[in-house]
Amino acid sequence: MRITNANVWIDGKFVKKDLCIEKGIFIDCNKYLDEKVLNLEGKYILPGFSDSHAHVLGIGIKLLTLNLENTDVVDAVLKSNDKFILGRGWSNLPQNIEILNEVDKPVILIRRCGHIAWINKLAQEMLGMNKFLLEEDELEKIWELLPEDFYIEAFEKAQNEMLKKGITSVHSDDFHGITFETLTKLLKRSKIRIYEKLYTTKPWKYAFKDFGKSKIFGVKLFADGSLGGKTAFLSTPYSDTKDNFGRFVLPQNFKDIVEFADKNNLQVCVHTIGDEALTRVLDLFGKHYGHRIIHAQLVKKADFLRLKNFVFSIQPHFYFEDREIIKYVSKKNLYLYPFKKMYDTGIGISFSSDAPVSPFDPWYVINSALKLGFSFAESIKLYTESSGEIINEKIGKIKEGYKADFVVFNDKELTDINSVYVDGKKLV
Ligand SMILES: [Zn+2]
Repeated sequence: MRITNANVWIDGKFVKKDLCIEKGIFIDCNKYLDEKVLNLEGKYILPGFSDSHAHVLGIGIKLLTLNLENTDVVDAVLKSNDKFILGRGWSNLPQNIEILNEVDKPVILIRRCGHIAWINKLAQEMLGMNKFLLEEDELEKIWELLPEDFYIEAFEKAQNEMLKKGITSVHSDDFHGITFETLTKLLKRSKIRIYEKLYTTKPWKYAFKDFGKSKIFGVKLFADGSLGGKTAFLSTPYSDTKDNFGRFVLPQNFKDIVEFADKNNLQVCVHTIGDEALTRVLDLFGKHYGHRIIHAQLVKKADFLRLKNFVFSIQPHFYFEDREIIKYVSKKNLYLYPFKKMYDTGIGISFSSDAPVSPFDPWYVINSALKLGFSFAESIKLYTESSGEIINEKIGKIKEGYKADFVVFNDKELTDINSVYVDGKKLV
């Protein structure tokens, strides 16, 4: 296909240029022989957005389940007709939550951060657990309860919604509660490019390779929890507590995992929010450079230059979303959300939404980035080509040899999406 009459985003600005695509890749138009022409009549082309950290399945599950954000949680559950209540999005539980023990169906209510869940007595029986609040790994049990069809529907739904926002690839994290067979089934039939970070402490058990247009490229691990749950691991206690530093949950066999990853050309991606968690993760990585840290919200000044040896998936919007929570963190000797400083220092960062924790709309993230001092062109770059750079994939750029994933906008302000292409094929 030859695309004519388009304004194409190249190196931070729009230029008039023909584009040629063969077998899903942008090629030199001088070498293009076919006659198929698409006249875009002056429309605007951006590379497809690439979210460097989100949970596609989680987004789908959220779309298919009860949304508890900014609602009366008890009221929402009582009003629902579902036979099995799975909700997500509360921040603080209401006083009268115990009423939900009298509801004649299992009720599972996951906190907005995804790290804590409240379950009623019937759900406790189903899960074989004997407590109301589940934390971290205990939540995995919830996912084991759901049938494969539900996951297939959720994965498809999430991708359709993301495509509508111009997202053509995601570094996703979906291996929670589902079997590896289900995961590979989801990847094989994916419409957008899914770069899967496999959540496992035993990577040697799995196949790291391409599945359709998607691939499993790395391992996802957690070093700590969340600020909202006060489980992010800090060097000083949360100020409203005497001795809660959060928790460090990096697996004991971390070094084995890193060595396996290095030998097999995989990237280890570690969820790290608190400053003390980051120090320890950097120490434990040692000289095994090139791996990824996800979040890096609180950085000790003394650690800052050590970040140069790693790459980062960061979320500019967290700076604004976390304002209430960050009050409980001592700021002494720390940089808070130093994303612009990281970028200016030449540290490899890329933008991400961490949806469904936050909205997956790229403009939501980019608008926050603009407020943190990133320019518009930088923001686009960090949401497109940087996401490819940190995993050595030729995506996110309108350039010969790159994958033909792109978005066509009707207007220069980029508010009105006309169509979305993956591998040169129109999907929206
Ligand atoms: Zn996440």
